[in-house]
Amino acid sequence: MSRYWSNVVHRLTPYVPGEQPKLPQLVKLNTNENPYPPSPRVVSAISDELANAAETLRLYPDPNADRLKEAIASRYAACGITSRQIFVGNGSDEVLAHVFAALLKHSQPILFPDITYSFYPVYCRLYGIDYRTLPLNDAFEIDLSDYRQPNGGIIFANPNAPTGCLLPLSAIETLLSAWQDSVVVIDEAYIDFGGESAIALVNRFPNLLVVHTLSKSRSLAGLRIGYAVGTEELVDALERVKNSFNSYPLDRLAQVGAIAALADERHFEKTRRAVIDSREQLRQDLLALGFTVLPSAANFIFVRPAQHDAGEIAARLRDQGIIVRHFKLPRIEQYLRISIGSESQCRTLVTVLEQILGRLATQ
Ligand code: PMP
Repeated sequence: MSRYWSNVVHRLTPYVPGEQPKLPQLVKLNTNENPYPPSPRVVSAISDELANAAETLRLYPDPNADRLKEAIASRYAACGITSRQIFVGNGSDEVLAHVFAALLKHSQPILFPDITYSFYPVYCRLYGIDYRTLPLNDAFEIDLSDYRQPNGGIIFANPNAPTGCLLPLSAIETLLSAWQDSVVVIDEAYIDFGGESAIALVNRFPNLLVVHTLSKSRSLAGLRIGYAVGTEELVDALERVKNSFNSYPLDRLAQVGAIAALADERHFEKTRRAVIDSREQLRQDLLALGFTVLPSAANFIFVRPAQHDAGEIAARLRDQGIIVRHFKLPRIEQYLRISIGSESQCRTLVTVLEQILGRLATQ
């Protein structure tokens, strides 16, 4: 607390990301990063850009990232999406921040699930937005029929985080057909690991905005690229906020790297398939160890140990150099969120868990 702080700062409760420890040899399964490297095309595009660095780094990047927007739009050409329907930002966190300011601040409270991406209430406090949370059902699923009530906007992650549960596109379509009074934002950070994107519905529903990231399925968390797809009307609102905040959110390296990543469909398919296969194997292995494992369409699983305290297991894993995410929050404090690592990281996790459970059983 300081008398020099503004009132806004006093009322903030900042988001706490999963730790990024500097220890070597860590099995890091706590922030849903991709265990595989990005496409080699990303590295060569960035190297080419760097080769001209003496000339180009003194110049600002393209503030509108036009080439990147075109590359994104062309991925969704079959859904009729044009580059004017794309908004890009410095990670989807920044895109989401602008979404809250541009589209979700109204007189009515916005709605989101009680268990979802914990950044949403943080943005609400930053921008002074009222919100109401609606409980997931007992299976930890979102029931979209709960959301058909007066509201200033709706936002949820699909697949949801940290549960991994997926809503089918048909459920989203049903909500959108019945509800057009406010903006519906779907955060599809993890959609490439097992779901069908709602971008296919964007040109049918003027109140739908879909947010994506290159951090997860394109292995580019370190480059910071996110985007939103919606009608030109919604995208225009985001551009107005962005251009009142930072004209150049994506630097030159991020822009060329993102374009190269999107061009490498083979690498995308290969790494995404490897993560999905490891997820299914890990699910079987943890079920065999007695864990409850929620169905996941993401690059992580949400699991509950049979007898022991989840926090205790997380601490013991950490002692063995494996970090997973444990949220000390109502309803989920006995769960662990485990990012899907490489095959060998998953095997190490299972072996170490066997040892920990064995030791706990004899104590
Ligand atoms: N949405 C969800 C549901 C997430 O889990 C994350 C990652 N923490 C993000 C958005 C933000 O990802 P990024 O800023 O790296 O694009």
